Amino acid sequence: MPELPEVETVRRRLAPVLEGRRFEQVEIADVRLTRPFDPVEVARELEGERVALVDRRGKYLIVRFESGRALLVHLRMTGSLRHAARGSLPADPHQRAVVNLDDGSDVAYRDVRRFGTWHVLEPHEVDDYLGRRLGGEPLERTFTAKRLGERLADRRAPLKAALLDQRTVAGLGNIYVDEALWRARLNPLRPAATLDRNELRRLHRGIRAALEHGLARQGSTLRDYRLPDGSGGSMQDEFRVYGRRDEPCDRCGTLIARTQVAGRTTWFCPTCQPEDPAQAARSSSRRPSRSRRQSSV
Ligand SMILES: [Zn+2]
Repeated sequence: MPELPEVETVRRRLAPVLEGRRFEQVEIADVRLTRPFDPVEVARELEGERVALVDRRGKYLIVRFESGRALLVHLRMTGSLRHAARGSLPADPHQRAVVNLDDGSDVAYRDVRRFGTWHVLEPHEVDDYLGRRLGGEPLERTFTAKRLGERLADRRAPLKAALLDQRTVAGLGNIYVDEALWRARLNPLRPAATLDRNELRRLHRGIRAALEHGLARQGSTLRDYRLPDGSGGSMQDEFRVYGRRDEPCDRCGTLIARTQVAGRTTWFCPTCQPEDPAQAARSSSRRPSRSRRQSSV
């Protein structure tokens, strides 16, 4: 559930409290978190490490230690992290791990569905591990419409599926793909390789705008996503399509539709995001607004 804006929000909050701190004592109470490695051994490995940097790639939160090792945290569906003074966190049946820091505070990890993961990587393993799983970072300058086009070329999969693939662009999930496609006025079922240059530019802009909007609202809290101080984000109040079936489109008033693409529930505006844009253009050119539409091209 947490996507790039949510994980980045967590990173920004955790960085100032973790950087420079030493992991004094670590307790991992869930074998699934560190699978296939023994949680007790992983906890021992982490003890004594001092945090150099809290980083992020895609949906991975990366705690980089001065030793060069890294702890990769993936929140998956329902993972969240809390930071608080020692002893001040309420008892929580879903708490899976807790790190005692050397300044007397704790970072606790909670996860209701238990799909989240903690992996400790050696210095030489980090780049390769992430490089094999993730494409470029959509908010970095190196992410361009041209680069996006290269990633989508030769892909017959629907746009929605291609964008959910973390190797296309890192950090997008079900929410922000739907939001980006609405902004780009592209149908989620369009074969990914069929976009022209203008459409690629729209998609590039749409991805960035959707993510930046999410970041500005500290992410979206639908169920379990929380900031490290326990508060929630507010992006869920500003979705354009996600979860808004039968509500009017903000752009044209058509009711938002819901469908399934690549096994994922998908929301879109049937008017703004037509399945066949050529047909939509032909039918709109028959309307009286033709001259205005042409002059705006
Ligand atoms: Zn619309």
